[in-house]
Amino acid sequence: MGRFGIMEPEKCEYRESILNLSEEDLISFLVDKGIPKYRGRQIFTWIYRFGKTSFVDMTNIDKALRRKLDDWFYIHRLRIIGINKSKDGTIKFLLKLHDDNTIETVYIPEIRRNTICVSSQVGCAVGCKFCNTGHHGFIRNLMTEEIIAQYLIVRDYLNTNPTQSEESRRVSNIVFMGMGEPLLNHQNILKAVTNLMSDEETGISRRKITISTAGITDILEEVAKELPCRLAISLHAPNDAIRSSIMPINNKYNIESIIMACRKYSEHHGYLKITFEYLLLNGINDSNECASELLKLIRHLNAKVNLLQFNQWDGCSFMPSPPERVIKFAEILGRGGIEAPIRHRRGEDISAACGQLRSQEIIVPSY
Ligand code: SF4
Repeated sequence: MGRFGIMEPEKCEYRESILNLSEEDLISFLVDKGIPKYRGRQIFTWIYRFGKTSFVDMTNIDKALRRKLDDWFYIHRLRIIGINKSKDGTIKFLLKLHDDNTIETVYIPEIRRNTICVSSQVGCAVGCKFCNTGHHGFIRNLMTEEIIAQYLIVRDYLNTNPTQSEESRRVSNIVFMGMGEPLLNHQNILKAVTNLMSDEETGISRRKITISTAGITDILEEVAKELPCRLAISLHAPNDAIRSSIMPINNKYNIESIIMACRKYSEHHGYLKITFEYLLLNGINDSNECASELLKLIRHLNAKVNLLQFNQWDGCSFMPSPPERVIKFAEILGRGGIEAPIRHRRGEDISAACGQLRSQEIIVPSY
């Protein structure tokens, strides 16, 4: 265990990962050692703004302190073991963790924004029937450092890749929509989000970070007030019967509890629109009646719906809704006053879409 009660990667037994610390944690550690507070901000700036991976490079810090920092901490990076590039510019990174598990992180360039889709767990226990990640079960939660390191490693890669234009190298948005259910790892996620927002110059604002949940409503209610960013709910159905058939978690957290938790979130963050993710599955949840029912369910909330098109994967029997159905569904919501953009499939040729991520080299750890 490290000084902050965090299990350290075996390769760095005696040192603490600095990415696991909030700025407050770091400052209180430094102050305890008689080091002035402002050093904490300087170190954070080197790590989060300039992407430094070594204390030696922190040139406005005296050499003696740099040596001490190196004795106490290390700056974690994940190892890229695979990169898949889609013809639409999407890049999927396969990353190796210290225990040989692997996760995936996806970079999605668009016209006005560049988004990183970050994983929060190795695998997922929620088991949505349309999701390849869920199909392979749960292994473990990611630590704060592993969540932050996904962002840093993608940024490093983009900054050193000469084929990318300057504009496409700037990461503007982060979505917790990769492998795993973020609210089942909420302590580490919230700490990571706070650190990612910490740099005044390059930090990502709360409006540009989205936590997407299948609706773990007891935790959502608990953290609603402190949630420092946008909220997306993977709803995918307008009623409990359909939702339970494709998302078994609905038997525990039903739609009524989701709406109540959303209200609670809006009490604290009413200015931030909630997004309902809705994956259109042919003949399952894509009828006009479903659209009308969905409208009735959410029209009183400050919300919008993202209509997602299903990307098929081997072993899954669901089919995507035909384009005319998708358009009709969007029209019904739009006529009822709910914004419902149709999200185009991204990274289809490299299986990088929502619900398609999976560890390609799943190794179950020995504990
Ligand atoms: Fe887990 Fe999300 Fe997949 Fe559902 S869709 S199984 S919550 S990763």
